[in-house]
Amino acid sequence: MVNAAEAKEIIVQSVVESPSEECTLAESAGRVLADDVIAPGDIPPFDNSSMDGYAVRADDIRSASLDSPVTLELTGEIAAGDPPSGELRPGFAARIMTGAPVPPGADAVAEQELAEAIDSIVRILSAANPGRNIRRRGEDIRRGGRALEKGTRLTPARVGILASLGIQNVKVHRRPRVALITTGNEVVDVGRNPGPGQIRNSNAFTLEGLIRESGADPVNLGIVPDSTAELAARIRMALLHDAVITSGGVSVGKYDLVLDVLKSEGVEIRFWKANIKPGMPMAFGIWKSEKRNPVPVFALPGNPVSSMVTFRQFVRPGLEKLCGVRAQPSLRIKAVLGEDIPKRDGKRHFVRGIARNDEHGIIVMTTGSQSSGVLTSMAEANCLIVLPEDARDGKKGDSVEIELL
Ligand code: AMP
Ligand code: MG
Repeated sequence: MVNAAEAKEIIVQSVVESPSEECTLAESAGRVLADDVIAPGDIPPFDNSSMDGYAVRADDIRSASLDSPVTLELTGEIAAGDPPSGELRPGFAARIMTGAPVPPGADAVAEQELAEAIDSIVRILSAANPGRNIRRRGEDIRRGGRALEKGTRLTPARVGILASLGIQNVKVHRRPRVALITTGNEVVDVGRNPGPGQIRNSNAFTLEGLIRESGADPVNLGIVPDSTAELAARIRMALLHDAVITSGGVSVGKYDLVLDVLKSEGVEIRFWKANIKPGMPMAFGIWKSEKRNPVPVFALPGNPVSSMVTFRQFVRPGLEKLCGVRAQPSLRIKAVLGEDIPKRDGKRHFVRGIARNDEHGIIVMTTGSQSSGVLTSMAEANCLIVLPEDARDGKKGDSVEIELL
């Protein structure tokens, strides 16, 4: 039995990033950079105005105020998209729009609201320091500098940066294909009517969604009954993928065969059972072959909530590593318990909670029943309340850590 932190560490240490490939800018959203992106140019690419107003020499309008405006002669107009114009001489101002190139010689833009244009002159009503309302070339990203770091996921903002730099192809990690096997004699496909004693396969759907959320592609290999031979055959098929997730059959019941079959198929088990609740009976192993990267294998418990909680705690960090994501310390969020939560054991508890703001901060209540079969309480929850191994009964008013879902 390992503690949650040890389990996560074992997984992250065991998983190797998937190889890289090129993808186009248009396909890059959500992918993970396999290389640093070095800026081929400056952003912004030229000094430009951040306001609609008048390009001026700050020195010319040093004494300007509402009571004694400074009058400048107007010389033309510069719109966004215009090529850079000639030098702005002392005593002159040029009408300029947001995004338009600041002419040489000008070093400030007086806002339109603080100026009055009359025919070919403009009265400036306020002084401006040099640099006012000017976005300097390279102030966001400098040519030759690292614009984006290897191991970061391409969020919309980051894809926007690639576009502004004109980068059309990027090196990203391959999206891992994750085989998913659902086990259990009682489990039937949603398309079928469950017979007596049977239930529908919800885990395949929750887990597929979680796999996608982690940035990988699920490959559903269907339902396998609790039979050693059938499990072995399906696991061999699964091991041809980049990672394997099984659901159910990994506890200590007579028909919990997954652990033994994994071992007999050559999966090296790195741990079995984590000191957590829910989700204690889970296993993690690695299957090594000569030609490919090691395949991480996550055997999750069948209880719907347990499989989701163990996925979040252990599979997700593993899949993120597989996707090439450089781990960031997660944000620690504190909340005040709005009710008592009994806890007598030395496990780490993940309690489904609903957190909300009140005038003092964040207050969190449980979703009620914490049975690991109650999926509705997972659906209602917006966070997991974390009660660490050494904590005992949580009391209303205690400060606790929560993980947002
Ligand atoms: P197990 O981990 O196989 O002992 O299963 C624990 C509980 O989870 C049992 O009540 C199973 O019926 C239920 N269960 C197992 N697999 C699934 C599944 N794919 N979908 C929904 N419930 C399941
Ligand atoms: Mg079972």
